[in-house]
Amino acid sequence: MFDATEGIRPQVRSMKAYEPVLPFEVLSKRLGRSPSDIVKLDGNENPYGPLPTVLQALGTLSFPNIYPDPDSTILRESLAEHFGMPPEHLLAGAGSDELIDLLMRLFLEPGDRIVICPPTFGMYAFDAAINAGEVIEVGRLSDFGVDVERIEQAIQEYRPKLVFLATPNNPDGGLIPLDGLVRLLDVPAVVVLDEAYIDFAPDGSSRLTEVPERDNLVVLRTFSKWAGLAGLRVGFGAFPLSLMPHLWKIKQPYNISVAATAAALASLERIDELSAIGRKLVAERERMFTELSEIPYLDPFPSQANFVLCQVLNRDAAGLQATLANSGILVRHFATPELDDYIRITVGKPEHTATLLEALRQLE
Ligand code: PMP
Repeated sequence: MFDATEGIRPQVRSMKAYEPVLPFEVLSKRLGRSPSDIVKLDGNENPYGPLPTVLQALGTLSFPNIYPDPDSTILRESLAEHFGMPPEHLLAGAGSDELIDLLMRLFLEPGDRIVICPPTFGMYAFDAAINAGEVIEVGRLSDFGVDVERIEQAIQEYRPKLVFLATPNNPDGGLIPLDGLVRLLDVPAVVVLDEAYIDFAPDGSSRLTEVPERDNLVVLRTFSKWAGLAGLRVGFGAFPLSLMPHLWKIKQPYNISVAATAAALASLERIDELSAIGRKLVAERERMFTELSEIPYLDPFPSQANFVLCQVLNRDAAGLQATLANSGILVRHFATPELDDYIRITVGKPEHTATLLEALRQLE
């Protein structure tokens, strides 16, 4: 008998699967509840969803029967105009996830190294594993801040090709302080700043428009969180010009669907409305943080993103997550040694916070 698995690459055979969050239709079946009875605070999604004009644009697509523009020309021009930077530096991806993978495929030969600072977004290690890269982990300080000194040392010692830094970081929501960032941008490696949550941080926190002035800086952004388009999969990145021809060569030609393009363009046309939703979520984050601080068995971390990480004191965090899930409230627990005692709660609408707090208080 032919064993089809025999030829599977060893690094794929041994790698762990990524644990994704589940969409409403799957959860609904699993929990036996209708989507309106589920408080979904596990995926850092935007509870307000897309703007009404985005839904209109999706309902009136002109040519969904024709392949999308492989160059995402109009989207990149619209982004360039919005951010005041040349479109030649910009590449769109099917979520920033695709761009993370694209960077690994661009740079990594088997055994090449990347540096990450766990706990952090799981896709860096996941994509490195698929691409047979070696992951050098530089753990964070006890407040989840990056350890700049140790990152510099690791870069000297291991000569990685890429350094991935999420700011704000997932799962804690902390921004990299400016002095540390300035040092980290100077290292001899390509530095990838993942700004998926930057729209929830104070104005002026993004480094996106500095990309054209630097040779080694990549900045990744997404429409998933702030624009409420997680289900449509659209993100973008700014890259040094020297990398662009090579990225264009290796990306899938039709990576951004006609629907995702229309939704992103319609979002960029109503930035003021999106910013208002962003401000609402930031206000709700602060309110939720204060309320969570009053739950005796939770210790929340200050966050600049659309989620709050809480240490769970004197009880089992996985158990707490499961108990909440049984009442239709989904929060995230990560079964890793560093995060076993924590849950991460996405900022929802005020009524979601109210349901969550009521459930948490009942468990006191
Ligand atoms: N970066 C970080 C830090 C994230 O948390 C996420 C989403 N979980 C992403 C990137 C990916 O976002 P998307 O692919 O939806 O653009």
